[in-house]
Amino acid sequence: MAEENKSSLDPLAALCKRRGFIYHSSEIYGGMPGFWDYGPLGCELKQNVKQAWWQFTVRGREDVAGLDATIIMHPKIWKASGHLDTFADPMTMCKQCKKLMRADQIDDIRAELGKKAAAVNPAYALSCPHCGGEMTEPKPFNLMFKTVVGPIDDPSNVAYLRPETAQAIFAQFTNVLSTSRQQVPFGIAQMGKSFRNEVTPRNYTFRSREFEQMELEFFIRPDEAVEILHGHVVTLADNPDLNGPVQDDWGWEVWHKYWVEQRKKFLNAVGLPTEHFVEYWQKPDELAHYARACVDIEYDFPFGRQELEGIAARSDFDLTQHQKHSGESQMVFDDPLKQAAKKLDDAARKAFIEKVQADWVSRGKDPIAAEKFCLNLFDGKYVPHVIEPSAGVDRLMLALLCEAYEEQKLTDEKGKEDIRTVLHFHPKVAPVKVAVFPLVKKDEACFNMAREIFDKLRKKVNCFWDASGQIGRRYRRQDEAGTPWCITVDPESPKDGKFTVRDRDSMQQERMTYEEFLVKMYAALEF
Ligand code: ATP
Repeated sequence: MAEENKSSLDPLAALCKRRGFIYHSSEIYGGMPGFWDYGPLGCELKQNVKQAWWQFTVRGREDVAGLDATIIMHPKIWKASGHLDTFADPMTMCKQCKKLMRADQIDDIRAELGKKAAAVNPAYALSCPHCGGEMTEPKPFNLMFKTVVGPIDDPSNVAYLRPETAQAIFAQFTNVLSTSRQQVPFGIAQMGKSFRNEVTPRNYTFRSREFEQMELEFFIRPDEAVEILHGHVVTLADNPDLNGPVQDDWGWEVWHKYWVEQRKKFLNAVGLPTEHFVEYWQKPDELAHYARACVDIEYDFPFGRQELEGIAARSDFDLTQHQKHSGESQMVFDDPLKQAAKKLDDAARKAFIEKVQADWVSRGKDPIAAEKFCLNLFDGKYVPHVIEPSAGVDRLMLALLCEAYEEQKLTDEKGKEDIRTVLHFHPKVAPVKVAVFPLVKKDEACFNMAREIFDKLRKKVNCFWDASGQIGRRYRRQDEAGTPWCITVDPESPKDGKFTVRDRDSMQQERMTYEEFLVKMYAALEF
């Protein structure tokens, strides 16, 4: 984004509205806070972001399988996952102006409103950032949207719109395991809608009430199983090569860092440079009780540094919870583990159990459960642990839009100044890849050749046809849409079989054949 626009989303939001990226939902009725629609360019961008994630996370790997589960699921899933009891934000209300706010966001709102509000009340630091009024005691507010399944509006028929896609992956774990020919370590990925009744949806699409997530649950062996199999567990202290192939002797810590690196690679590949985001490693007191580590990838949005996505090491918490609540075993049978355990004699087994017990006790866990866990391991059985990279489609789209937006000051040969608004999308995510223009509409040969190129190209990628207006204006329209290449067919083209390709970023023009253009385009689109 241009320096002068760094602190405001306004110019970008105006462009998104003007060019059909993002609209308010239900706009003709006044809109709904926290709900957004994607227009013609926005929905192409969204498809491309999701496709890139799916290619990188699922199709490009041998160890991840996909899932597409329902949005409404059995309500017991949300009891088991903890969402029914604890998925809540602290909500507070101003007794004077009646505005509802998240108690933990009051400082941010105050900062956004700035000094103007501070003048309202000298005791403002303890009061409503809008009017200076007194705030109520914060109360937990569950973020799940409720609905009723079936014709009878009775509490026994209450269900919830999923607040995350991840739980369906756990609930279908055994089905995917038995039908995909995968074995631990492996992952299950899902993309789709999630719903959260956010108290204060803010910052454009950043915090919405309906949004999409792209989540991966990557199931790994418990470290104790790796120890039996390999006699050692590789940790980060061993300095493992995270860019090479994955290794069977990695412990959870290495798998977690591996996925942090994979996510960073993905963000780079879709157009976010490493220097514009940071890894925030949650401190021990910030971690959920079951989590061993959690990294937030934070991006420098114009409204501040905020979480783009998270990568959590969640131990065996989720599958164990579902095992407990459903009564269905979530254990896997790992034959190589059983074979390795067979080689341990009684003394080695005893020593192993004692070591695991000491470790569990040091982490406040039960020694009897530790022994049971070891005996299961000797039989090749365990509940897998999980690493969860969890990303938001809309949040990533917003980051890509912020990153791509630029207002360039241009000066022509006559010294005349002009502003060019351009979206420098990476070609992989650009909503339109190529725009095709006949230079002279009335020149039949030129027009027909342009149309033929357009018809051939649109079978491969999303293209745009524009036959009217000055050529300079046509280029500028595509700059605002973020189209990487414009093809102009001129009266010479039918004679020499070449056309002009104009590059969005450099504005350089180059004449080439159709085949030469395809090579150039595919090279930029490859993952
Ligand atoms: P936050 O702290 O911002 O509320 P979170 O830690 O609750 O986010 P997770 O539950 O870990 O978020 O969700 C994973 C990802 O889903 C987030 O990193 C974000 O990209 C996306 N996400 C979560 N809530 C929203 C929302 N209300 N609107 C848009 N995207 C969201």
